[in-house]
Amino acid sequence: MDFKLTEEQSMVKDMCRKFADNELKPKAAHYDKTHEFPWEHVKKLGEMGMFGVVYSEEYNGAGMDYPSYAIAVEELSRGCASTGVIISAHNSLCLSPINYFASPEIKKKVLPKLCTGEWLGCFGITEPNAGSDAAGTTTTAELKNGKWVLNGTKNFITNGGVANVAVVTAVTDKGQGAKGLSFFIIEKGTPGFSVGRTEEKLGICASSTTELVFENCEIPEENLLGKRGDGFKIAMHTLDGGRVGIAAQALGIAQAAFEESVKYANERQQFKQKLSNFQAIQWMIADMATEIEAARLLVYQAATLIGTGERQRYSKYAAMAKLFASEVSHRVTHKAIQIFGGYGYTREYPVERFYRDARITEIYEGTSEIQRLVIASNVIREF
Ligand SMILES: Cc1cc2nc3c(=O)[nH]c(=O)nc-3n(C[C@H](O)[C@H](O)[C@H](O)COP(=O)(O)OP(=O)(O)OC[C@H]3O[C@@H](n4cnc5c(N)ncnc54)[C@H](O)[C@@H]3O)c2cc1C
Repeated sequence: MDFKLTEEQSMVKDMCRKFADNELKPKAAHYDKTHEFPWEHVKKLGEMGMFGVVYSEEYNGAGMDYPSYAIAVEELSRGCASTGVIISAHNSLCLSPINYFASPEIKKKVLPKLCTGEWLGCFGITEPNAGSDAAGTTTTAELKNGKWVLNGTKNFITNGGVANVAVVTAVTDKGQGAKGLSFFIIEKGTPGFSVGRTEEKLGICASSTTELVFENCEIPEENLLGKRGDGFKIAMHTLDGGRVGIAAQALGIAQAAFEESVKYANERQQFKQKLSNFQAIQWMIADMATEIEAARLLVYQAATLIGTGERQRYSKYAAMAKLFASEVSHRVTHKAIQIFGGYGYTREYPVERFYRDARITEIYEGTSEIQRLVIASNVIREF
């Protein structure tokens, strides 16, 4: 077992850490407050290869390995959690199903623009009545005269308001539950496809979260990803990979909260001594440091397993990494506010933002309850 990063992984870590310190951190509070989409950062991250991290150079991707991707999301989220999810949703949720399941023609058409960040992507399975239970989807796709006609609404879609390409599920065979779902790719500007309501959120405020609305939206027959009826399988395959991205985002937020906490504990004085002299504070710092390291090991392990392509091996580990890292992020950001005392509760310091940003990592791409279901079903089957 070798815990050292490769040359490429170290290079990505340094590059993203510098970008986070120099570009993201100074602007993160501004974007959190204004809810503006951080286009200036998106443009630069495109030049850095962050919109096609693991995808082939043939499609303008950076061709890196999965741990490099996890490290990139971790480091970028350390600077700005909204930016972390913009990158993660684009790479893991939109590009992955296209890369695995689209026809060579579609791949050639959309991947080169998506991998450079010229185009952004989103992924929609959630609907008002289909959250944890993706099989409850009601959006329909009917094949009429050689075209798929989509009708329905997706909600809570990350990058929804800014995406040029959406990949979504729809029912193609009614009454067949999960087996009646199929997966489609739709380009912005297609008649009948529009962006609906934008959500106002607790955290990750600079990320776009919107509805996607389909009203008699006609798309070519070849825009079906994989086979008819494979939609649920494709969604689960995609989410297994995506969970590592969210786990890495949670880890980056926790790391940022930890660093700010130690710095503050070494500066702030009460009772004529630094906070870091108090054992109560030291214990919090020790627990934060230990939990972050444990989460990092799980995240890098899951990312390494994804690189093997053996889904039956990595599904459980991806769920473990997401479950643990998101709950660590919650605990660490909670302690960070405690260490900052009253100042931690104000917008003068970033820890209240970290606390708000961390919360979503326990919810999207499968809540913690759903991760426990995935882990338990794998573990029980293994015995
Ligand atoms: C900011 C944001 C961004 C998002 N981005 C995307 C995106 O890009 N694409 C997308 O498709 N979706 C996205 N989502 C949706 C997200 O994945 C869902 O919100 C999430 O999966 C939970 O679904 P739900 O909100 O309908 O909650 P529900 O499914 O209604 O769950 C409510 C509660 O019940 C629990 N629960 C449900 N079923 C079970 C069960 N079987 N056993 C035990 N407990 C259960 C849940 O864990 C939760 O605690 C996003 C959501 C948010 C808030």
